Amino acid sequence: MNFADLGLSDELLRAVDDSGYSEATPIQEKAIPSVLMGRDLIGIAQTGTGKTAAFVLPMIDILGNGRSRARMPRSLILEPTRELAAQVAENFEKYGKYHKLSMALLIGGVQMGDQIKALEKGVDVLIATPGRLMDLFSRGKILLTGCNLLVIDEADRMLDMGFIPDIEEIASRLPKQRQTLLFSATMPPPIQKLAAKFLSEPKTVEVARPATANVNIDQKVIEVRSDKKRDVLRELLRGEGVKNAIIFSNRKTMVRELYTSLKRSGFAVGQIHGDMEQSDRIAEFDRFKNDKITVLVASDVAARGLDVRGVSHVINFDVPWQPDDYVHRIGRTGRAGAKGTAITLATREDAEALGRIEHLTGTKIPRITLGDAPLSEVAAETEDKAQRRSRKPAGEEKAPRRGRSKAAEPKREPAAAQTERSPLEDAPIEKKPRRERARTERDRAEDARPRAEPAIEDAGEGGWNGPLPSFLSVSLS
Ligand code: ADP
Ligand code: MG
Repeated sequence: MNFADLGLSDELLRAVDDSGYSEATPIQEKAIPSVLMGRDLIGIAQTGTGKTAAFVLPMIDILGNGRSRARMPRSLILEPTRELAAQVAENFEKYGKYHKLSMALLIGGVQMGDQIKALEKGVDVLIATPGRLMDLFSRGKILLTGCNLLVIDEADRMLDMGFIPDIEEIASRLPKQRQTLLFSATMPPPIQKLAAKFLSEPKTVEVARPATANVNIDQKVIEVRSDKKRDVLRELLRGEGVKNAIIFSNRKTMVRELYTSLKRSGFAVGQIHGDMEQSDRIAEFDRFKNDKITVLVASDVAARGLDVRGVSHVINFDVPWQPDDYVHRIGRTGRAGAKGTAITLATREDAEALGRIEHLTGTKIPRITLGDAPLSEVAAETEDKAQRRSRKPAGEEKAPRRGRSKAAEPKREPAAAQTERSPLEDAPIEKKPRRERARTERDRAEDARPRAEPAIEDAGEGGWNGPLPSFLSVSLS
């Protein structure tokens, strides 16, 4: 649907037009009219579906009437991470350019003094992470009694990060008479409870998971032995059509290792993982966004929800253990109309995890066996080519392909290719012996720690080394 039919003001439509968007996404189309009418709302839609503008746009028009008062923000948006908070601020700058609204960003790692100064003046929009906001409460520096609009964004992510008690505390300090919006990719029971407690007669708008419907993402699994993964990764990255790529690994140690080895191989690469200072993460992410680097190695927690436009490839160096993580990872590509490719490297141990992913997404991901096609082509090929190949009889599949260009030929010994292929092709993937399984489970428990990486607030005071972000306190005019 066209933005013009949603009841937004002319100034706002002009700003949307300037940003190059013509059609509202389904969640925007469903949410915006209700928000404009002042209703509480639960918006459920997967990552990358445009939830930010679904609340930012109507908020700009709602806040466009009325004035801010000192130390009393008129609206509050809670975000789980600093990156997401910063992205929301960017959205307000972009869409609010014809409105005179002020905002402040309250996130860990930025000098508290500057944030307080911005607040003293009074702001229309306060964008905060729960930890930092709680901090400010305890210092008595902020009043939320004038705050009539609350947005709890990325609620499921908040839950993952243990922020629900903070959110309850914060919400209870806001006036009872207010409008509350909650956005989430999923609605697990604790989020339902939160919504029941803090929203009143909410309208629920839901958009089907794009994981099942996102035809813009060309998904593939490459079956590979684990000791060959790095070679395969390098070949994929050198492939045609790889404009830029985010590589996900399940463990932060592996993120670091991959970063080092890719750097050594000459790639313009960066990394983000939970052990890094938040300021370094933001800096690294900015380098990727600005095309200073073309490859970003990331862990799930560090990268979830990050808004990178136009990522051509997502490569899962490991199959994620949680099927939801797969959906979040591949959501980095194929966003808002652009085509993208998601390639997952899988060993025979990953059969179970892949099965769970395919169950969740309701799609069978085409398998590619090494030696079947030059990897440089795999990275660039289209979905139907892959499907045609997977339909070929097995004998034909093994036949050497004609017309490969020498340059695209993987630099691999034929013997190695043979050993790589046979264990996967010849034996059906089966359950591991019990002892091995037990060890893997213990390893998993250990490795599962990155999911509980210190919350971003933990980076602590003074973690920000760079210049203050321009949107810390700005007048939009
Ligand atoms: P979510 O919060 O649902 O994960 P975002 O709000 O971050 O998604 O939006 C994902 C991407 O889609 C962003 O790059 C955003 O600029 C883009 N986008 C949002 N709305 C539209 C639209 N109407 N048309 C095209 N692209 C859009
Ligand atoms: Mg979002």
